[in-house]
Amino acid sequence: MKTPSVRFKSQFINKSERCCSESCSNSEAEEEPPGEPGISGDVGEEPPGKTATNRYAFFGHIPDNVWNDWEWHFRNRITSVEQLAQFIPLSLKEQAELRLVTMRYPLSVTPYYLSLINPDDPDDPIRKQAIPSILEMTMGSIGMEDPLGENKDSVVPGLVHRYPDRVLMIVTNMCPMLCRHCTRKREWQNGGWVRTTAEVEAMLEYIRQHKVIRDVIISGGDPLTLSTRRLEGIITRIREIRHVEIIRIGTRFPVVLPQRIDDELCTMLAKYGPIWLNTHFNHAREITPEAAEACDRLLRSGVPVNNQSVLLRGVNDSVEAQTELCHGLLKIKVRPYYLFQCDEVQGTEHLRTPVEVGIKIIEGMRGYTSGLAVPAFVIDLSQGGGKVPIQPNYVLVQTEDELVLRNYEGRIFRYRNPAKPACPESPAEVLCPVGSAAVSLPQDTACKSELEGVQNADRVFLRS
Ligand code: SF4
Repeated sequence: MKTPSVRFKSQFINKSERCCSESCSNSEAEEEPPGEPGISGDVGEEPPGKTATNRYAFFGHIPDNVWNDWEWHFRNRITSVEQLAQFIPLSLKEQAELRLVTMRYPLSVTPYYLSLINPDDPDDPIRKQAIPSILEMTMGSIGMEDPLGENKDSVVPGLVHRYPDRVLMIVTNMCPMLCRHCTRKREWQNGGWVRTTAEVEAMLEYIRQHKVIRDVIISGGDPLTLSTRRLEGIITRIREIRHVEIIRIGTRFPVVLPQRIDDELCTMLAKYGPIWLNTHFNHAREITPEAAEACDRLLRSGVPVNNQSVLLRGVNDSVEAQTELCHGLLKIKVRPYYLFQCDEVQGTEHLRTPVEVGIKIIEGMRGYTSGLAVPAFVIDLSQGGGKVPIQPNYVLVQTEDELVLRNYEGRIFRYRNPAKPACPESPAEVLCPVGSAAVSLPQDTACKSELEGVQNADRVFLRS
């Protein structure tokens, strides 16, 4: 990572700043997140050690024990343009623009995630995810508030039941960072809230009543903003429902505040497996030693970690960026699971890419690296249509008897389709000619004579 040429003198420990939960209208949320107030410490000597961040440039005066305290980061999130300007050079015009944006779409960045940003680079891919852009307003009429139709599919407040065997529990709208591409940006103006005990009970009752539900996803906002004790209260009660097989947690904490993945949390999660955790790395630079350690702690507690990244313009919209990200994830034993086309959310249009970009990325990875490193590229359809995987087209022609396929290098092969006899009497019927590739299927495509003597008769090489 490029070291910033300007070192900003940090004035930053804002003891008076309120966390979302303190402004939450829900009295039960008072304990979220728990912990001691922020503490100012001596300016630390610079031991670059186990961090890939600008910590010592931005927060050199914060001692290790404070820096490693996730509650300190949560309380000291950067939420105003004035605070931000202490770390990132912003012209007066930019500051005015950002103030305008944050009136509609607020700002919130943890000190940890801020320390990943290169302040000298206005196009920094980490910055683009965390710092508002005036384009959120100027292109703000494009898209929808709730593109996935989650409000429509809520069966009780906070519980989305779209697919037959699984439900999504939205237990809070609070997050440690407000990601500029967030699908639930519509929630940002509602203040911080946590579901009440009665609301959680209503969700659990629905799950109890619907025995087809075998998979419960706890999401938000970010559910790890809840205290470990409160989260355990929810998990325990889900576990009492016998037809629920697995619990999944959707969280960006390993990326934006990995200190949250502490022993207390991991010990708790280990008691209630199988629990899977889906996180959200978007760029290789987010895979710091701290993030790697957080994922390792989860894995050692028996919690598999998968990654769901979002395809973002100027952040990860190239084969190189995605390959580097996915290789980095595999090195920390996190599986690249989904690459989402960025949803049609109002205020995110400037970060969205044409669908073709995602297809090209998958095409540029498939075959060139292990299949384990290639995520499924997916569009989450608007109005609750669900996820649809989008693949590069490898099937050029498909008949009852065979397929004509292209491999990752563009070479074309025939593949005998065992569903029907290899040599039907009638000419092969083209069921699905795909794309414009000029592949003509000879009438005697699958003729025995052509196949005879070919060692691997399932694959007949046509041309390269
Ligand atoms: S952590 Fe997830 S829910 Fe929260 S702002 Fe980021 S993308 Fe949205």
